[in-house]
Amino acid sequence: MAQDVTGRIHSIESLGAADGPGVRAVVFFQGCPLRCRFCHNPDTWAFSGGQEIAAGALARRLARFKPYFGAAGGVTFSGGEPLAQPAFLESALAACKRLGLHTCLDTAGAGQGEYEAILAHTDLVLLDVKHWQPDAYRALTGRDMAAAEGFIAAMAAAGVPLWVRHVVVPGFTDSLKALRGLADYVQRLPNVQRVELLPYHTLGVHKYAALGIPYPLAGTPPMDPAACAAWQEELFAHINHNTGGKL
Ligand code: SF4
Repeated sequence: MAQDVTGRIHSIESLGAADGPGVRAVVFFQGCPLRCRFCHNPDTWAFSGGQEIAAGALARRLARFKPYFGAAGGVTFSGGEPLAQPAFLESALAACKRLGLHTCLDTAGAGQGEYEAILAHTDLVLLDVKHWQPDAYRALTGRDMAAAEGFIAAMAAAGVPLWVRHVVVPGFTDSLKALRGLADYVQRLPNVQRVELLPYHTLGVHKYAALGIPYPLAGTPPMDPAACAAWQEELFAHINHNTGGKL
């Protein structure tokens, strides 16, 4: 896409270490169609918020951090939901690739199709698997999981490497049954290189108060990181038992 498309971003984290390999500049896109009950960034939901920027200008700004990226790092487009601004995302990814930057797409897959050009400029996808069961997915996000399934099918066709991430929420997804369901689901995903369980935390609660939005998981405690790590071992054991050592 030659056109320099503009889009809306919430913010840029210049040197992040948690969203993909190595040191990365992370761009949080503005706007998200989901309403995950555990979301800690409700300030990214509104499509009208944030700041407008052209894709080329964004890429040039990100390229300034290139000396810090080393061999493994690069840029990560996160959100919000970056797939909700597909033309801007595609243009930003393409501009970053022209500048020699490694590109990650951190997404819940909540877009509307036409992913081929986007994935052609994406080196790695970080897929946030909200849930693997349609009713639970809807209860947790307020939306149908068909969009995520469509994105997964596009990823399979494109052959882009995938890291899976999943938030473990006490009382919702911290059971053996839930973990085994996740393991079975992950085994069917394409090109999986890594699976990370992330402990639910409550660091975003104050944002809900500031926005005047009732907190959806009031009363749910944060997930104990050690317990989450134990669930991760359980998950790996289940996947490796079924696949003969996929992870
Ligand atoms: S997809 Fe991300 S930004 Fe959107 S509601 Fe869910 S956690 Fe929040």
